[in-house]
Order: sequence, then structure tokens, then C-alpha cells
Amino acid sequence: MNRLLITLKPFKDESLHGYITRLAIENGASPLNLYILADLNVNKEKSNLHLITKETQSYNFTKLSMILNKCQSELLDMSFYNELGKFLDYDSHQINVIHRWGIFARRTNICPKCLKEQSYLRKNWDVHLYTCCPKHGCLLLERCPTCNRYIRNFGHKVSLIECMCGFKFTDAVTKNVEIEETNFAELIDELSTSTSNLTHSLNPLYDLELRHLLYIMIFFTKTIARYE
Ligand SMILES: [Zn+2]
Ligand SMILES: [Zn+2]
Repeated sequence: MNRLLITLKPFKDESLHGYITRLAIENGASPLNLYILADLNVNKEKSNLHLITKETQSYNFTKLSMILNKCQSELLDMSFYNELGKFLDYDSHQINVIHRWGIFARRTNICPKCLKEQSYLRKNWDVHLYTCCPKHGCLLLERCPTCNRYIRNFGHKVSLIECMCGFKFTDAVTKNVEIEETNFAELIDELSTSTSNLTHSLNPLYDLELRHLLYIMIFFTKTIARYE
């Protein structure tokens, strides 16, 4: 089994798709080839590394951890396994709803300002409802402003900060939002095991687990949409 020559330490809040892409680029390899080498067929559902469950984790991560030279638990932390996938057995309805409606499989949103500060993809940008950056008080970017394509969370060929059309996402103009609008993203950060600072709050929403929060929000969003 080939191992990558250059290894990089993952950031605490980095997405697994983004990490694989960052490593591939650093090693002068194609991210797509890395997925194929790890036996993660990109055309099938198993390529969605957010959908890892107890049954699929060893299948998905054995080769990948050897190639990336990282232990499987470190890779699982970068996916949503600890927050979602491992609960599939006894919360299957909730987890399936969240996987379908709450987490991007192949695309992501980004904060151009975060990306400019450090060029790696944040895991929580893959959560649908994570629409603002709490740090910069701006809306996340959903599509490339030049070619209007959605931003992919893997498969980038040369750069994590550049669209296939050549536009640098870090040059995108951001739209500021009111501080209150970033509260929900902040809550997601707080409930996410990889980024939590374990602060205590009087707000009962902070006592929820991430999967419960996302399920409640998806449930109400879909209910409201039905009556509109
Ligand atoms: Zn930001
Ligand atoms: Zn573009």
C-alpha cells in the first residue's frame, strides 16, 4: 500500500473531504486518484465520508488511514461519525433525515475570509443550516460568483481556494449579517464535538446534542415549507 510522502496535521475543525484534498494537492496527486486508491468509489454513496456508520467505518477507513498515515479515530473525528453516524442503529430515522436534508454530500459552503486566513475547509461548512460565519459576521458563499457553480467539497485539482473557472474564493465579496444571525452557526459550533469549548449557557438549546438540534430544525423547516 502506497503512503503519501508529505503528511499534514489536520486542523481541529477541518472536514475530512477537505483534508484529503489538501493532502493530495500537497503531494502533487489528484484528490480523485486518492479516493480511488482508498477504494472509495466516487460515483457511489460510500464516497460520502459523512455517511460513515458502525458497519461501514472499517470498510471505508482501513485503506484510507494507511495511505494518509493517520489512525482511523482521527479520521472519524473529521467526519460526522461521532455526532451522527454512530447513532444510526437506534436513531435511524433522525440520522437518515439529517443525512438527506442536513449535510452536504458533495458540495460545501465557504467563508472567503476564513479561507484567506487559513486555507482549509471547515467541517461545519458542510452543514446546510450553517449559513453564516460567526467569526467574520458574514454569509457563507454557496456558489462561485464568476461561473455560478456550487463549491465542491472534494475533487479540487490544484487548489482548495480556487474554483475550476480560476476564480479565487478568497477574493469574493462577502455580505455582512447582523450579529443575531450568526447565533445559530455559533450554536452548531458549540454542539459539534470537534469544536466545542464546553461553555455553559442558560439557553436550553446548548444542552441538546447536534443531531437533535439539526433534526428539530429540519422538521420545522419542512413543516413550514409545506404550508407556504
Ligand atoms: Zn469566516
Ligand atoms: Zn467558478
